Amino acid sequence: MSIDLSRRNFLRGAAAGAVTAVAAPVAEATPFGPREPKQLPPKAVGMLYDSTLCVGCKACVSACKQANGMPVEQPAHLAAWGEGTWDMAEDISGHTLNVIRVYQNGTMEQKDREKDGYAFVKRHCLHCVDPSCISVCPVSAMRKDPETGIVSHNPDACIGCRYCVYGCPFNVPQYQFDETFGQIAKCQFCNHLQKQGKLPACCDVCPTGASLFGLVTDLQAEAERRLAAKPGEMYTFARGKLGGDRPSHEAPLGEYQPHLYGEKESGGTQVRYLTGVPHEKLGLPALPDHSFAAVSEGMQHTLYKGMIAPLALLGGLVFLARRGVKSHHDEDPSS
Ligand code: SF4
Ligand code: SF4
Ligand code: SF4
Repeated sequence: MSIDLSRRNFLRGAAAGAVTAVAAPVAEATPFGPREPKQLPPKAVGMLYDSTLCVGCKACVSACKQANGMPVEQPAHLAAWGEGTWDMAEDISGHTLNVIRVYQNGTMEQKDREKDGYAFVKRHCLHCVDPSCISVCPVSAMRKDPETGIVSHNPDACIGCRYCVYGCPFNVPQYQFDETFGQIAKCQFCNHLQKQGKLPACCDVCPTGASLFGLVTDLQAEAERRLAAKPGEMYTFARGKLGGDRPSHEAPLGEYQPHLYGEKESGGTQVRYLTGVPHEKLGLPALPDHSFAAVSEGMQHTLYKGMIAPLALLGGLVFLARRGVKSHHDEDPSS
């Protein structure tokens, strides 16, 4: 069982909306504002997902399950009759860390076309540069590696409050509601494999290089190269790891949307998306360039710096006390 998506979206929207609604006017009128943005760690690793190369084979989904010890998932109405294929997760969940989703429009004749077309998109944690999930966690169970930038979750420290679920602007962390001792689940960039010198499982098995691993700075340069090249011209695509020794393959370059998703969204992430269809149509949300963490922490720091909050409270109490004394005097003119 999982929380209804619309309810979850409402809760997160309400929380984010409250922060933004309070922060925006306050930031213009007073010294309140986002704190300094966080910077990409020096050896940040990441992923370039090129939707135009993705053939929707879902090898990345099953490899992710295998690498992370996750069970198969099927919609209840199919699982009950044994009619599902081996794994049919509709979205990421407490037991599914990545999924391939499909965009469909009209006659669906052509791949990577918005009208009468279809396209694939991969969904998992983007390993934000300034993660909101870390900012809202009260016990530091979410952590960002200072070198690689991988955002991981420590189940031993986690108290199950699920603030990270509501705080993430990409709706990534999921709670295992169906387990007696449920945990938060999210992609941890196959940290355990990387420590053994291996690739993240999804990039390792991807046959086309649609999911490509590498240093974020290198992946950014590669994405910019693809954006600058002419659509349709033959291009050499790496597979597995950018700069690795795996044989590359040649294919005509796709026609990309000019927006490199993940570069700036929510303060920037360590995943980049190149797509042929506008990112909103693929379920990649439009987000501001600063993270909610930067806004809310900026406000907190300003409030508590110089004891503004306690002084404001004291001022309020003095005001109320004076008003009480005044009304007492008004009632008793002889006093
Ligand atoms: S995508 Fe969500 S879970 Fe992943 S690092 Fe960013 S805020 Fe955290
Ligand atoms: S990096 Fe690992 S955990 Fe994350 S989506 Fe890929 S296979 Fe799954
Ligand atoms: S393995 Fe590669 S091509 Fe296949 S669905 Fe995943 S990203 Fe797409």
